[in-house]
Amino acid sequence: MHARDTAFWTASAATLRPAAQAYINGRLQDAADGRQFASVCPHTGQTLAMVARCDRADVDAAVVAARRSFDAGSWSRCHPRERKVVLQRLAQLLRDNADDLALLDCLDMGKPISDALNIDVPATAGLFDWYAEACDKLYDEVAPTGPDALALVTREPVGVVAAVIPWNFPLDMAAWKVAPALAAGNSVLLKPAEQSPLSAIRLAQLASEAGLPDGVLNVLPGYGEEAGQAMGLHPDIDCLSFTGSTEIGKRFLAYSAASNMKMVWLECGGKSPNLVFADCADLDAAARKAAFGIYFNQGQVCSASSRLLVESSIHDCFVEKLLTEMAAFQPGNPLDPATRQGTLVDAGHTARVQGFIASGLQQGASLLSGGERLHIGNSDCYLQPTLFTGVTPDMRIAREEIFGPVLSVLRFDSEAEAIAMANDSIYGLAAAVWTDQLRRAHRVARALRAGTVSVNTVDALDPGVPFGGCKQSGFGRDLSLHALDKFSQLKTTWISL
Ligand code: NAD
Ligand code: MN
Repeated sequence: MHARDTAFWTASAATLRPAAQAYINGRLQDAADGRQFASVCPHTGQTLAMVARCDRADVDAAVVAARRSFDAGSWSRCHPRERKVVLQRLAQLLRDNADDLALLDCLDMGKPISDALNIDVPATAGLFDWYAEACDKLYDEVAPTGPDALALVTREPVGVVAAVIPWNFPLDMAAWKVAPALAAGNSVLLKPAEQSPLSAIRLAQLASEAGLPDGVLNVLPGYGEEAGQAMGLHPDIDCLSFTGSTEIGKRFLAYSAASNMKMVWLECGGKSPNLVFADCADLDAAARKAAFGIYFNQGQVCSASSRLLVESSIHDCFVEKLLTEMAAFQPGNPLDPATRQGTLVDAGHTARVQGFIASGLQQGASLLSGGERLHIGNSDCYLQPTLFTGVTPDMRIAREEIFGPVLSVLRFDSEAEAIAMANDSIYGLAAAVWTDQLRRAHRVARALRAGTVSVNTVDALDPGVPFGGCKQSGFGRDLSLHALDKFSQLKTTWISL
């Protein structure tokens, strides 16, 4: 057994030969027109693989394979227990291949190897287990129609489901869509983000190894305006589930309207508020979680607690604590197991986040810590964890999603002001409240417009609880049994007696 140190992971990275073709009908294959794009590692600058650049012809082929598999019924109409067993085998295969999967995401988008290995991969495997268990434990309904009829309300898979996902948690985002869609009996097309396509291809290979019939899970790496748009506009895709920016989410609604009125489910951006009241009993815990809530995953988290609202009377003391906690997130080599902040996903995104830092300075916020782009090794995709105080609600850094390690601190003097400030956003994905007053906790939780409100923690997340947004953070819920509703149709069968 090797020491699993930086040298171990660097050596493993050097020998990794990732599959980089499309996965259609149970086989790896090139794009129909042979085109490719480079999958680049943001911390070495090296090309990890030349990846199939799928476009409409490939989406067409994958839809044909998916539809054929769906109609054949080997997955869509099999015994739910068989689905359970295949999904459980896939969960185990994910665990058996944890090192390679963690390395793929670490190399492709720059997250720390420890996070990929200890958080992303186990969560993905756990999610497949969770939906596997759901397969043979859900009952349908009989409606209360009276003595002259028997009305059955049964859940059916919708058919061919497409999933278009971002790069911030490549494997987990794939699982959030694929696991419930498969558990519900659908056939699936998955388009990973162009920045991080490799782990999705591996996932499809492992699914076949687990016994998933050919054509039930297809992976189409490629660009948004090509493969993504072709899925959005396809006349024979029944449902499309998207995670990504609000701007692109809106396009999927338009694609649906312009094509076949496919169901669309959107998990989009956020600007989640974290409210710290002076009556919070454990300000150390609040500061630790506030730092985690924005600096984890380089701040590239849709539900990141990117607006910190602090009651004026504790503002200065809380900011002191925060400065101590954020020191743990100094960026470093993602392949070093001690690193807690890696690189941002690529140079373009790093520059975009820098632009927000510049706008904060220009609009008069105080830069208390960080703000610099760092050059480490061969990469300049590193950003210091950054803290702005003196932020006012009109500033861009208080309103727009930055998707980087930049925290904006605002102050409030009353509960009503805190609630109004928190809700003053086009987004409504998550929120957090720190207070030890029971009544205040419930009052504020009710008043906040967000899909998830965490009390005395941030980012509450579990396979068993729904995740998703209101307002322009989207609609529909991932995770939990509710996610199955997105990928199912209800059928009423009325039998006259
Ligand atoms: P993005 O919206 O640019 O891309 C997301 C996906 O959409 C990618 O697969 C991309 O290829 C595809 N896409 C891009 N343009 C397209 C087009 N014109 N037609 C069809 N598909 C297209 O977002 P991103 O930069 O990859 O990710 C960052 C964003 O994702 C952030 O705004 C973040 O808030 C959001 N996000 C949300 C959640 C959530 O659960 N709500 C989770 C993670 C990320
Ligand atoms: Mn990449």
